[in-house]
Amino acid sequence: MTNYDLTNIFAKIIKGQIPCTKIAENDDFLAFEDISKAAPIHIITIPKQQFTSFEDFSQNADSKLIANFWRFIQKITEEQNITEGYRLITNVGSDANQTVKHFHVHILAGQNLGGLMAQDKLKR
Ligand code: 5GP
Repeated sequence: MTNYDLTNIFAKIIKGQIPCTKIAENDDFLAFEDISKAAPIHIITIPKQQFTSFEDFSQNADSKLIANFWRFIQKITEEQNITEGYRLITNVGSDANQTVKHFHVHILAGQNLGGLMAQDKLKR
């Protein structure tokens, strides 16, 4: 675990110090609505253990936990009845504008999500 900040917002959500709209929860994982939705369905999924990013999670988490996390996400997409497709995003580091340093995967759905990135942001 690398430089995990115990005061990050998702750590507070896990501890129940900050409220959230829960979508799903078990002993290892939590899913809740993003406070600032980028699509009609915008769910944040997190492991409860302390990992700063996808990199930290992939390198240091137990293999079973990693597999179960992806299954947890898949189950949510099923429960949400997302039949028209969805996008999973995990931002890592500054170029990706990762704002919360607790590993999370966004589930986005509910409308056509357009291209992968806004073309006006592309440096050629
Ligand atoms: P990132 O930019 O790190 O990939 O995503 C962080 C996400 O957390 C953002 O989409 C942001 O809207 C969401 N977020 C930040 N603070 C809160 C909060 O207090 N509650 C919830 N539910 N989401 C939050």
